[in-house]
Order: sequence, then structure tokens, then C-alpha cells
Amino acid sequence: MREIDFTAVMARLGDLTPRQRRTMVEALTKTTALAEVVATINARVADHPNCPHCGAAALQKWGQSLGVQRFRCKGCRKTFNALTGTPLARLRHREAWSAYGEALRDGLSVRKAAAKCGVHYTTTFRWRHRWLRCPRDRKDDSFAGIVEADETFFLESHKGSKAWARTTQGKSTEPPPGRKPRHRGGKAKKRGLSAEQVAVIVIRDRHGATTDAVLENLSRTSVTPILKPILNRNTLLCTDGAAFYKAAAKAEGFAHQPLNVKAGTRVKERVFHIQNVNAYHERLKGWMHRFRGVATKYLSNYLGWRRMVERQGDEVSPFQVMAAALA
Ligand SMILES: [Zn+2]
Repeated sequence: MREIDFTAVMARLGDLTPRQRRTMVEALTKTTALAEVVATINARVADHPNCPHCGAAALQKWGQSLGVQRFRCKGCRKTFNALTGTPLARLRHREAWSAYGEALRDGLSVRKAAAKCGVHYTTTFRWRHRWLRCPRDRKDDSFAGIVEADETFFLESHKGSKAWARTTQGKSTEPPPGRKPRHRGGKAKKRGLSAEQVAVIVIRDRHGATTDAVLENLSRTSVTPILKPILNRNTLLCTDGAAFYKAAAKAEGFAHQPLNVKAGTRVKERVFHIQNVNAYHERLKGWMHRFRGVATKYLSNYLGWRRMVERQGDEVSPFQVMAAALA
């Protein structure tokens, strides 16, 4: 807009009725959010200046679509934009992405996020899994000093499973997989690992480096591949007295300080304890409570989501959440 026209618009703002003012603020807010979304998308290519098809670095600008820059690769001659090859490629309603970044940061349910963004909940359901793909896979791999490891448990859940719904609603006579349905959420009958519980190991050093994994069972063979890449000569593994940690440490030669927690030894020589990782478990569980039981097949998405919240804090901008989804 020419400066002279802009001055004229500004001069007449005082004539707006309250309703017109609200409409204008809404429109400006939406436009600003969309401009920020587009800027975040375009910034990605500056950070990853390679062709998503062949990896070549020689690119030329090739027009743009709704503000999103298109490129052509000088190597393979294919065109792409900054979203090509990312989990957010071809998702629609970009004007609502800013609101969705806030919804993820604030841990909103699918339905609350849909209401906030003004889209259908099937859309926010799809978005959630796409936006969490990168955070799910982003785990710290550099650990130092005392490294605490401990397991926590989640109820096994087939939430959202069509096979389960068909059977429990009487539309199919096939027995449901595994066990009888349980009211969503609920409590396990036994503590610890059983047929209805899924174990998650969380590993955290005193600097906040964190990783986790869903375990198939509690054994030396299931924890070793998770511990091995992160333990080294500069780390000391600290765990409770479970035999499988001892066996893994012995077989692999990890420096290890087990605590006989069951016998009441919670802290040894003032520094050896697993209280940081247990506090993390508490925060994870407290935060997960709002989702009222999560489907086991999506559990790793939620673990990554929580790691992202822990890493970024709850005051980041929605565009930082978006950048994490693109990284
Ligand atoms: Zn290429």
C-alpha cells in the first residue's frame, strides 16, 4: 500500500464502530499469524539449504506460492518448497498453524485444539501426529556425569482401535485383541510390569539431557541397546537395585551405582540417587493425566511431546514449536 493511502486509513481508524474494530483486529491478527508461519517455513531452507530429492546444495529461487518460496534444484532440476520432505508438507489451513503451535505447547486435547484453531477435530488429530514426528525422534545423545535411569509404567491401551470398537459394540464376533476392554484411563490391578502395563525407561543426567524408550520387557537384552549408545567413560549409571541393570552394566562394563531402594536406600554418599529421573516421571504422568489414557501405539509421540515441553519451556512462541516440528 502506498504511504499516502496508509496515512489515510490510519486517519480514519477513529471512525470505526466497535464491531468494525473487532473485525479489523481479528483480520490483522490472522494475517500477522499467517505471515509469521510463512516466515518460519521460509527460514527452514536457510537452515537446511539442500534439495530434499537429491541432497544437492545448488538451488535457485523458483517463484512462490502464498508467500512460501519455491526452489529448483540445479542438480536434479526438481522443484520443491521449504515444506517438501517435512512432516508438515501438504497440511492445509496454514492460517491456523500459529494457534496450533500454542495448542501443542499448552498440551491441549485434540478437541480443545480443534476449537481453538477453528478446524475439525479430525484435522487436529492428523496434525498432532505430524507435528510430533520430529519431536518424537529427537532424543538427547550426549550424556555426562551421573546418569539416572528408571522405569515407569503406563496402562496398555487400544484407545481408538477400530478392531476393538467393532467387537465391543457388538458389530463383530471376533474376540478383541489381548484382553477385555477397560474404562478409559483407570488403574492397573497390579503394580509393575504385567500384561496390562507398558514399561517406559527414562534416562536423564544432572545437566538435563534426557532420553526415553518404550521397553518390550524388563530385561538385560531390552535395556542394553538403549543404554549402550549414551554411556561412556565419562558417565556413571545410577539405578535402583533391579537385576537387569546390574546384568547390563556387568556385561557391557558400564560404571554403575545401584541403590537398594527397596531396602530404603534412596541416597548414597549424598550424590547417588535417582530422584531427578523420578521427578521427571512425576511431571510426565501429571501432564499425561489430561489425555485420560493414551493408545499404546502413540505412546512414543507423547514421550517426545513431553521432552519438547521440558526442553522448550511453556513460554515459547508457537513458531518455535513449529520450527521443532520441521527440524
Ligand atoms: Zn535435487
